Amino acid sequence: MRAAWLSGGLAAFWLAGCAALPDAATGADLPDIAVPAAPDAPAPQPSQPPAGPLTIDRLPGDFPHGGEAREAADIDLIVVHSIGGPTCRDGAVYFTPANGSAVFWRDWFLGESGKSIHYVIGRDGDIAQQRPELRTAGHVSFGGIMSQVNRRSIGIELVNRGDGLEPFPQPQLAALSALVADIAARYGLRPEALVTHAALDDRMQPECGGVPLRRNLDPGPLFPLADVRAAITPE
Ligand SMILES: [Zn+2]
Repeated sequence: MRAAWLSGGLAAFWLAGCAALPDAATGADLPDIAVPAAPDAPAPQPSQPPAGPLTIDRLPGDFPHGGEAREAADIDLIVVHSIGGPTCRDGAVYFTPANGSAVFWRDWFLGESGKSIHYVIGRDGDIAQQRPELRTAGHVSFGGIMSQVNRRSIGIELVNRGDGLEPFPQPQLAALSALVADIAARYGLRPEALVTHAALDDRMQPECGGVPLRRNLDPGPLFPLADVRAAITPE
């Protein structure tokens, strides 16, 4: 039952479109978060399009990308999210089904002001890129320390309901592993550089029907973080 993993301590929910929540709670409300120290790695390699088996749907080269330009040396984190999650409707928690392909959700992000991501990976393993790696994306909220995370990280959304029940299909995990391995190799990142959104942001949102809600717990308890980290080969 859903309640099984929601009932331990604070009930655990996270929001649809978790990647770019309106950031009403900046400044004093921000929690202390522990992000990994910059890895002791060789000088980052210039960003190159992923090679090998990765097939990525990219936007045209002259597409007017948003975000801010950054250097390869700025990047030392990869943050994994899931698209779906609950919203509070009339006092009840509602989980969006998060239907659609990677391209569908990439295009959805394009229509959202203030919400952006570098990559979206569909349940079938298709990968779509919204934002070039050397431009920042707004996937870990905004303002204060959170903007520092955006500044230094590459964000990846997994198309998933985010209800803690839907498994992550093997083609999706295989694509994610290949992508993070490629990114880690190009920027000299260690396995610990791969983190979940939930690990970075434990803020709460208003209660829903009397149930305390976390803003973000994605990608959720079924996400095999250790397995995906294992795809990264330390230098
Ligand atoms: Zn998220």
